[in-house]
Amino acid sequence: MRVNAYAAPAAGQPLAPTTIERREVGANDVLIAIEYAGICHSDIHTGNGDWGPQPFPVVPGHEIVGTVTEVGAEVTRHRVGDRVGVGCMVGSCGECASCLRGDEQYCATGMIGTYAATDVDGTTTQGGYSTHVVVDAGFVLAVPDGLDPAAAAPLLCAGITMYTPLRRWGAGPGTKVAIVGLGGLGHMGVKIASALGAEVTVLSQSLKKQEDGLRLGADDYRATSDPDTFEALAGTFDLIVNTVSAPVDLDAYLGLLAVDGTLVNVGAPAEPLSLHAMTLIGARRNFAGSMIGGIALTQEMLDFCAEHGIVSEVEVIRAEQVNEAYERVLASDVRYRFVIDASTLA
Ligand code: NAP
Ligand code: ZN
Repeated sequence: MRVNAYAAPAAGQPLAPTTIERREVGANDVLIAIEYAGICHSDIHTGNGDWGPQPFPVVPGHEIVGTVTEVGAEVTRHRVGDRVGVGCMVGSCGECASCLRGDEQYCATGMIGTYAATDVDGTTTQGGYSTHVVVDAGFVLAVPDGLDPAAAAPLLCAGITMYTPLRRWGAGPGTKVAIVGLGGLGHMGVKIASALGAEVTVLSQSLKKQEDGLRLGADDYRATSDPDTFEALAGTFDLIVNTVSAPVDLDAYLGLLAVDGTLVNVGAPAEPLSLHAMTLIGARRNFAGSMIGGIALTQEMLDFCAEHGIVSEVEVIRAEQVNEAYERVLASDVRYRFVIDASTLA
């Protein structure tokens, strides 16, 4: 099946319309008519070659919501007409310790990414900036009825990327959580941490988005451009989740952690990060990383969001506006996720 898509033709080049081939619907596959695809900063890192060479042309997009239009003979968990989602993964070995634990993203043989990855049949996966996608039913999530489909799309990456560390490191009543960077991931972090009952502080470059941050559920909002912030909040937080897409002064942020506190880095800049061991040693602090979340946890997150009325704040765009949207994300001018209306690709 030949479908319309937007692809990055080469590293650093603007995206352009194209057509791509989608495989036949296999026994365990579902065919999804895509309604919306979110724009994640990872799409931009990938297109720029920030994480190394890519198998161009690349059709990005791993925050996909759509409707099932066909299912394979063996598929029982999804039916034609269901509203479903696909995130960053479309496959894994299913047999290693990580897969068996429900951490498919850490599959020993490597998870199969939704785009720019080698699929089981040897072809390169192509993502959600397109009209249709064929995905193994085991990697297709049910999108609860109550969620607006455009605003739910970013949950499939931004939502789960924040839900995972917030749950794992115990964000909840009585804990103090800071979210660094109020972008796509950050704003989901504020909403989810607040719904979990944590006391939430946003650490943003400026106070420009303070009103939004407080409306989204933050209890406090500080500018990191103000050196007083790092003095006033020293030793405060149990958990800090850093979503910044560029390198930050880790020692400064680690200094904001209480004894035994943890800074989880989810931001994935091209450049290496560095820190002084003494910053960790001096207060038994932890520095960790976390990548998206497993399939079962992603379903749990979607159900949690439906229960708490949580979706992303989105700006829905036409496909031909994608390059402009990329520029605005790079300029931190996103409130708070761009989502492509896939009907504009038809
Ligand atoms: P985004 O919407 O661009 O948000 C990043 C935010 O970081 C910006 O809004 C800005 O917030 C802040 N920021 C940007 N540049 C900065 C700089 N030079 N110094 C200080 N702060 C800066 O991006 P996103 O989609 O949320 O993704 C964020 C990062 O997470 C990316 O690196 C992405 O690849 C990565 N990611 C990781 C995972 C994972 O599984 N670990 C999943 C998805 C994405 P303020 O304006 O508030 O300062
Ligand atoms: Zn993403």
